[in-house]
Amino acid sequence: MASGVPKPQVDTSRPHSARVYDYLLGGKDNYLVDQQLADLLPDLVAHTARQNRAFMHRAVAWSARTGIDQFLDVGTGIPTQPNLHQIAQGVDPAARVVYVDNDPIVLRHAEALLVSSPEGRTDYLHADVRDPAAILERAGELLDLDRPVALSLVALLHFVLDEEDPYGIVRTFLDALAPGSHLVLSHATMDTFPGPVDHEQERMYRSNIPNQMRTRAEVERFFDGLDLVEPGVVTPAEWFKDTPAPDAGDLPVLLYAGVARLP
Ligand code: SAH
Repeated sequence: MASGVPKPQVDTSRPHSARVYDYLLGGKDNYLVDQQLADLLPDLVAHTARQNRAFMHRAVAWSARTGIDQFLDVGTGIPTQPNLHQIAQGVDPAARVVYVDNDPIVLRHAEALLVSSPEGRTDYLHADVRDPAAILERAGELLDLDRPVALSLVALLHFVLDEEDPYGIVRTFLDALAPGSHLVLSHATMDTFPGPVDHEQERMYRSNIPNQMRTRAEVERFFDGLDLVEPGVVTPAEWFKDTPAPDAGDLPVLLYAGVARLP
């Protein structure tokens, strides 16, 4: 961040998605409000968070192995080892990674995201996915947008409501990327929720953290016009290329995940 810009404040009076997710993954960067909300969620949600993180690891490693050496990760979250750049640079030490999040607490921890391999580079932007043009402009300072980039929107777009135009936002990103780029995406769903939904609990969660679950068809729409990589849009536990998914046991995963290539 440029000096002179006021530091965004962490609001600890309300739960926040990044901190709830951190708590679900066993992290320490969260407050009582986040813990109280997370503790009300079904166990499936923590399971889903772990499967989601594991999907990110496999999809990024696979993208790097196909030769992609530039990554734009929007909705990064609080650093959790290994972070995306550690995965990408584990395959290609010269990989460049730009991280983006709009949460002040992620900004506070950004230093951990900036410890790049000597050959590669990492950068962190405090920005909002709902302003893709600004992100692209700043990301273009580190990444060469004329060459393929893997854009990761992992467990992010369910925080972008329909009236905020999530499909238009994704389109703006994709239109700026070179052919051969990848879209790595995961998205929360209730399609796989077993049994009846507790609507009161759902309403409570939504009023704390606005979010929108989407169906398979709605998630597939993010990939319109792209070449979906096999096995397509599936739950994270079913997504694998050369590294098998960790055993998800019998618990369902409340998420769809997929990777696609830009023609
Ligand atoms: N991608 C990570 C973290 C997912 S948690 C992973 O899958 O492991 C969702 C993250 O999205 C949080 O860190 C939250 O702060 C961020 N986020 C939510 N709304 C956002 C927005 N409008 N712009 C940028 N980031 C956002």
